[in-house]
Amino acid sequence: MSSVATRLIHWHKHDGRHHLPWQGSRDPYAIWLSEIMLQQTQVATVIPYYQRFMQRFPTCQSLALAPLDDVLALWSGLGYYARARHLHQAARSVMQDYHGNFPQQQELIQQLPGIGRSTAAAIAVFAFGERCAILDGNVKRVFARYAGIGGYPGTVKIQNLLWQKAHEYLPERNARQPIEIYTQALMDLGATVCTRSKPLCTACPLQQDCVGFRENRVAQFPAPKPHKSQPKKETLFLMLLNQKQILLEKRPTTGVWGGLWCPPEIMAGEDIARYCAQQYGLDARLVADMPPLDHTFTHFKLRIHPQLCHVVSAAASPQQHTRWMTLEQALQAAIPTPVRKLLRQLILSAEGSVVS
Ligand code: SF4
Repeated sequence: MSSVATRLIHWHKHDGRHHLPWQGSRDPYAIWLSEIMLQQTQVATVIPYYQRFMQRFPTCQSLALAPLDDVLALWSGLGYYARARHLHQAARSVMQDYHGNFPQQQELIQQLPGIGRSTAAAIAVFAFGERCAILDGNVKRVFARYAGIGGYPGTVKIQNLLWQKAHEYLPERNARQPIEIYTQALMDLGATVCTRSKPLCTACPLQQDCVGFRENRVAQFPAPKPHKSQPKKETLFLMLLNQKQILLEKRPTTGVWGGLWCPPEIMAGEDIARYCAQQYGLDARLVADMPPLDHTFTHFKLRIHPQLCHVVSAAASPQQHTRWMTLEQALQAAIPTPVRKLLRQLILSAEGSVVS
């Protein structure tokens, strides 16, 4: 039987993906951007973001020179905003530490902010033809099933076993074509054939000696994350409206929604009028409790209680990290998805005169 690499390369010719916008490029910047966007995000969602991003920031230099706020605004809605902050930081590092020349070896690429071992390997393969192994989420699933590796891949032990397999299956020849095609084929197989649910084993080039398939245990691999109930948190958002403008506050760059614009947050039981006067020099009145909104993060669930307040008078000009925006301007800013939902509700409500 031919090797895993030979079968995958052969399969890819007819059945792999060949028309994704970032394919065929040897530009490390374009490849890097696509790899970061594809982390935890489906291809179909990524494509329009990738195209807009490349149009606005076509080079590493243009990204490095841009204000973080513009980068986050373009990322808005894609989630996992640390990816955008790291991307921006890494672009600056490439300009400063490497004089604008993207590092060419996996080991160096991996030292840039936000780039893990597998992402660095993918960039090194596609941009520079380096012979190195990838192991993203999809590839872990393929190898766990194919080699019959049980256990949760989040543990060091299982991860090491999977990395071993990733190296074992690499095509032998250190020629450019095979390593690129093999790597792309592996990604494509994980995304289109060896999918999380209902894998298409009958169309798989690895079926003949796949342990999961042979033993009819495909659904057991990889083992799921041990269940831990997610903590639940609650927060209050002050939806402060002054005429048709809303007050948004820029969050510190670290932590949840770092660097994004959000309505001010207050503790439950806090006196809203006093808080607004002390913090923002505003005379504001609570007019309605908007319906609560739930949002799920990787590590916890958040219930937001939006408090709609009208400003009667403003004594002070906004502080540096706060800004009055029209609802339409706010929708264009770097905001997280729940804030986008709340703004849309306000716009809809404006037609029913809740916002005046
Ligand atoms: S045979 Fe099925 S389980 Fe095995 S690698 Fe192929 S698609 Fe995945």
